[in-house]
Amino acid sequence: MIDAPKNLTRNILLGMLAGFVLGAILYYSNFLPLSLKDFIDIYVFNLGSSVFVNLLKLLIVPLVFFSLVSGISSLTNMTSLGNITLKTVSLYLSTTAIAVTLSLIVGSIFKPGSGYSSSISPPDKLPQGQGIYETILDIFPSNIIEAMANNQMLAVVFFSILFGLALNKTNHLTNNFSESFEKLNTVFMQLVIMIISFAPIGVFCLIGKFVIADGLDIFQEAFKYVTLLILVLFIHAFVTYSLILKMFTNLSLLTFFKKMREVAIFAFSTSSSAATIPVTLKTVQDSLGVNKNVASFVIPVGATINMDGTAIMQGMATVFIAQMSGIDLSLIQYIQVVILAVVTSIGTAAVPSAGTITLVIILQQFGLPLEAIGIILAVDRILDMLRTSVNVTGDAAVACIVANSEGLLDKNIYNK
Ligand code: ASP
Repeated sequence: MIDAPKNLTRNILLGMLAGFVLGAILYYSNFLPLSLKDFIDIYVFNLGSSVFVNLLKLLIVPLVFFSLVSGISSLTNMTSLGNITLKTVSLYLSTTAIAVTLSLIVGSIFKPGSGYSSSISPPDKLPQGQGIYETILDIFPSNIIEAMANNQMLAVVFFSILFGLALNKTNHLTNNFSESFEKLNTVFMQLVIMIISFAPIGVFCLIGKFVIADGLDIFQEAFKYVTLLILVLFIHAFVTYSLILKMFTNLSLLTFFKKMREVAIFAFSTSSSAATIPVTLKTVQDSLGVNKNVASFVIPVGATINMDGTAIMQGMATVFIAQMSGIDLSLIQYIQVVILAVVTSIGTAAVPSAGTITLVIILQQFGLPLEAIGIILAVDRILDMLRTSVNVTGDAAVACIVANSEGLLDKNIYNK
């Protein structure tokens, strides 16, 4: 079990409150000397938030690389289950694409962030929508080191998949070298937690930086972001999953959601799909009647690559930050967000707050200000809990559909 920092939620809230109070005092007071304000602004808020954002960026490439490589090796271990693999992966990817599309539609209708205009960190240049031609070409790097250095995530994802496949095919020659990658992946999950444990200080600096520059208006918009995000998470959990379950099976929806309650609560309280795997596995096998072999493949793979809730957050956060920076994304950029959110949610580690780290990839791609992560993180605790519940519900829904289509779902157990 990976070590999690204690009292993180409470400390992040305290950090946010402190940044908020100090920033507001400095913004609204006129009795403090200007030099003191400048000093705190530059050496505390700006420096602190840049260090924290750098630490987040530091993780992206290795995290995605190791998480994908170890995920892919476990996928291809199951070559005998080729059919199941294909169904599982296509369902996972398409539900994630639906999730992020839903979030972009709601986001672009209600425009969270549009009522606020930030005076800090406008992007250096307005992001130009890349053409389809370049987008496709960018997936195939001519130099992987260069692609990693430039954070070309699609290229990194492509290389990781190839590497994972090759690794798997040579396991018999390399004495199961892919196990080492699984171990390295665990190390990186721990590293995420270590860096996230600095989040209270990071959030303090980032919030302080916003408030000292622009006052308190930002929080009204953040409230809109939170409300819309929760709305989309609920729509996806209850409408999308109901629709696909109805489309592919004739199972009772009520039973499904009732039996998933415990799993959702567990995911909610741990904010980690990985930590929830044992509970999800037990529920889909013992209460939903999914065959053991199917479950033991579909659920761990789902915890690694299927993160619909995370993709919803990333879509909404991108719209929110773009609006805040006064940028209207073009249709082609929306499509790019969908593709990126699908691949980054695959590469997101199934541990608390990991989705906010991979969000950096999307923001970077469009030249959006990374400092806005501070606002996202400040309100992220409860959202992380909710989206993790959505992530695991998606895993279980797909497990039921796949098992049912193979005749490997025991309806007596399901209906009991
Ligand atoms: N906490 C999420 C999970 O484990 C990942 C994330 O979105 O941060 O599923």
